[in-house]
Amino acid sequence: MTSDLQQRIITRVQDCMQLASAELAREFAQPLVRFNQGGRIAGSAWLERWELRFNPVLLADNEAEFMAEIVPHEVAHLVAFACYGKVKPHGREWQHIMQSVFKLTPRTRHRLDTTKVSPTFSYQCACRSHQLTLRRHNKILRAQQRYLCLHCNGVLKRQ
Ligand SMILES: [Zn+2]
Ligand SMILES: [Zn+2]
Repeated sequence: MTSDLQQRIITRVQDCMQLASAELAREFAQPLVRFNQGGRIAGSAWLERWELRFNPVLLADNEAEFMAEIVPHEVAHLVAFACYGKVKPHGREWQHIMQSVFKLTPRTRHRLDTTKVSPTFSYQCACRSHQLTLRRHNKILRAQQRYLCLHCNGVLKRQ
């Protein structure tokens, strides 16, 4: 089932493709658009598969950013692949498409709030609770690292 929001993204992908076709005077097939991107990644372009994947969790909270930048960013990867073959992902070909076709400043990283997709783990010392990243949490589990509270100097313990 495609939601209204997903349909708007698909339409935006099609519009971006048409814009690229017009600007570069060549035809591009419509890519397959899926909403199964996980982790903190907003979207990804699968060049040989001619497929775009978007993160449904981030999309739900950040439609404007997806419309303005993330969709053109991923479309530009496909267009760069079609025009130039295998080139550096954010190299000058991709940057050129971002600027000349989409009139956007090429940025490689999104600035979305990823708190919902990157879980944190609650720890406690004598004075307060702390939220640790998955990476730190795993280090503690593997007994590779202990973390001390900056305030009371106590060892952080799982809550
Ligand atoms: Zn990219
Ligand atoms: Zn403390």
